[in-house]
Amino acid sequence: MVAEVSIRWHSRAGQGAITASAALAEILGSNGKFVQSFPDFGAEKRGAAVVVFNRIADKKIEDCSHPTAINAAVLLDPTLIASCEITPEELLGGLTQNGFLLVNSTQKNLQMDTGKAQVFSVPASEIAVAEIGKDIPNVPILGALVKILNIAKLESFQQELKKYLSAQLPAEIVAGNLRAFERGYLEAKRIEGGNNGKKISCAKPQNWQNIPAGAAIEKAGSAKHYSTGNWSRQTAKWDRKTCIDCKLCWPVCPHDAIKIKNGKMIGVDKSKCTACALCVAACPTKPKSLKIAPKKSSDI
Ligand code: SF4
Ligand code: SF4
Repeated sequence: MVAEVSIRWHSRAGQGAITASAALAEILGSNGKFVQSFPDFGAEKRGAAVVVFNRIADKKIEDCSHPTAINAAVLLDPTLIASCEITPEELLGGLTQNGFLLVNSTQKNLQMDTGKAQVFSVPASEIAVAEIGKDIPNVPILGALVKILNIAKLESFQQELKKYLSAQLPAEIVAGNLRAFERGYLEAKRIEGGNNGKKISCAKPQNWQNIPAGAAIEKAGSAKHYSTGNWSRQTAKWDRKTCIDCKLCWPVCPHDAIKIKNGKMIGVDKSKCTACALCVAACPTKPKSLKIAPKKSSDI
């Protein structure tokens, strides 16, 4: 690893970038490095875009500003780019000459213009679902990052991670995370980036002056017009056979995702469902007629 390293993580709230960044800082900090870990986000809600920074050095770090020279940009959720919540320029901005982009993806060729940046991928979501049963890709992508940056050997970092996680989580969850870390470490690979991919251009977002005047929100506001679930890799799945059509799931859904037609429950709108599981809690049947399950993987 070079003497000083800056990492910028791009993720959505709930995907664990802050936790991974903090774990990296704690572990390296306990092993003689000087490390910073700090997030940068606006109004926080599950699914909102989050940026997190790490600085790692062999000597005391005096600079507390956002790093501008980035050795590793880590993208936990490619839908942030597809939906223009962050622009390709923001993702790749500040990468140093040997800097790289690490993406949670199963793609062999990244289908976006990455310029001269080296690109690595790891199927972090698939690994997380397989090993811990949830699409929280932070630990597998941390494994990939530790490998690519040559921070530590697999076993030695795994030992430290075990100590760190065991202080907070039950043994079976720790074991799943350690397997996820190992798979991330071993399955990270260099892929094709370059200029062959499609150029993604993002329109400048509206500012407050463009928003129509008004205050009353009569229906599930954001979900009425936006695909609030398009980022989520999990969704509520409905079992028609066990459903008693009580519709108790409908009023608790914050995203207008429970579909009712002619007074009957007819399913879940996956483009709106954020997998918050409020409907599952409200459903009275045993077994539940609604459960949270992974969607098919979506990549750039
Ligand atoms: S999990 Fe249920 S309550 Fe939550 S958004 Fe999806 S359908 Fe609505
Ligand atoms: S709460 Fe459960 S049983 Fe009632 S309508 Fe919804 S899915 Fe069906």
